[in-house]
Amino acid sequence: MVGSDRNDKILSDTMRSSRTTGSMATKTCALISLGCPKNLVDSEKMLGDLVKEGWTITSDATHADVVLVNTCGFIEPARQESLGVIREQLARKKAGEIGAVIVGGCLAERNREDLLTEVPGVDHIVGVHGREEIARVVDQAHLTRKLRQAVLTKEQRTLFRPAPVKAQSDMGRFRATPKHYAYLKISEGCDRLCTFCAIPSMRGKHVSKPIEEILAEARELAADGVRELLLVAQDSTYYGIDIYGEPRLDKLLEELQSVEGICWIRLHYAYPAYITDSLLNTFSQGVTKGKLLPYLDMPLQHISDRVLKRMLRKVDKQAIENLVVRLREAIPGLVLRSTFLVGFPGETEAEFQELVEFIQRAKFERLGVFPYSVEETTPSFKLDGLLPEEVKKQRADHIMAIQQQIAFGWAKAQYGKEIDLIVDGPDSDAPGWYTARSHADAPTIDPVVRLKAKGLFAGDFVRARINGSDGYDLLARHMVAPLALKAGSR
Ligand code: SF4
Repeated sequence: MVGSDRNDKILSDTMRSSRTTGSMATKTCALISLGCPKNLVDSEKMLGDLVKEGWTITSDATHADVVLVNTCGFIEPARQESLGVIREQLARKKAGEIGAVIVGGCLAERNREDLLTEVPGVDHIVGVHGREEIARVVDQAHLTRKLRQAVLTKEQRTLFRPAPVKAQSDMGRFRATPKHYAYLKISEGCDRLCTFCAIPSMRGKHVSKPIEEILAEARELAADGVRELLLVAQDSTYYGIDIYGEPRLDKLLEELQSVEGICWIRLHYAYPAYITDSLLNTFSQGVTKGKLLPYLDMPLQHISDRVLKRMLRKVDKQAIENLVVRLREAIPGLVLRSTFLVGFPGETEAEFQELVEFIQRAKFERLGVFPYSVEETTPSFKLDGLLPEEVKKQRADHIMAIQQQIAFGWAKAQYGKEIDLIVDGPDSDAPGWYTARSHADAPTIDPVVRLKAKGLFAGDFVRARINGSDGYDLLARHMVAPLALKAGSR
């Protein structure tokens, strides 16, 4: 599995290799991609560009000519993980197992030249917006090592570009996800100023891809075998405002449903503003027609008005409560996923309880929670009322304990239901079982459905009956032959 929001996946272990048996290619590059699906799309685009320039992509990061580490820089634990991975690769380089080590992504953008001192031995640092020039950088780093040239200057070993004013194309990717699903980035950057978030400083202002470009990319992905599209952005409901002068997510969703070969469309990262009646209408019609999944990933962060204000979220408690009701009314059976941030500076016990009560009331089918992370480059760094680490952790654990009951209850309520699943592949630990997902399960961040069946392949759509659960996962039995990639199957 790849592309996790939990910053814990090293893609090179799972990605398809471009190396073919008997290949004459001599330059090999391995990628280690950390962080969120937006970063994964960048990783895949860089790999696509490297393949075009004659590089062979290898899944074996232990013997590559170049290892590219695409880092995450969102919060301290993610940065520490990225630094750990870079150090591992530098140790391999020192032992002579691999060639050059290049560092890209959000941590590179955030720490810039300082990274050369922090992790000495890195051959090149490439900021987020230097992505388009990766092939030149990789070639240069490879040649420099091969020819044993003198050590390059700091300037020669760093590449930073300003954030683009127009969205960059992600076509021609070398995908790291399984063949049957892909992330599609509809926009980049963010115009909001949430006080805990460092993303706008790394990824720049919001830039939307024009609808025609997204459609072309969706067709390319469908032709490559993709059946499930996962729409991602920093803020997907802001889509279109920069290029069309108004939110156009509704129009985009309408158009995407016409792409042949795509059976499921799943929407992520909806900010709880700009969810207009028109968008709700399109969403509910799309769900009825079958291609748009009744699933919405909408990070809410908090419910207390005072905390939301200090976070500069620009939505209040009433608006959020109303929105949850509107969504559930418009889309029966909707699976809502949300993320919350606890222990924000100044969050009182009463405000935390307000959040607990909201979560108990709203009963999100899927939920993630993060303890507040102190980030020097964010406006919240200057806020007073910093809470002790253990309080933040206790609050996060408390919410997860409540959520576990909600999620287990939801799983039990599914018993006996017949649902459509997409098969991810055989379960390697349990012969005769497959790992599959329903409309309720986004890859890597949600539970799975464990399916008892025979003769299935990754990407098959099947009808199944839910007959049990194992913690968060559902158990199911296959009912009929695979549906031949039926459009809109669910
Ligand atoms: S909406 Fe807020 S939390 Fe999300 S990326 Fe933008 S600034 Fe960060």
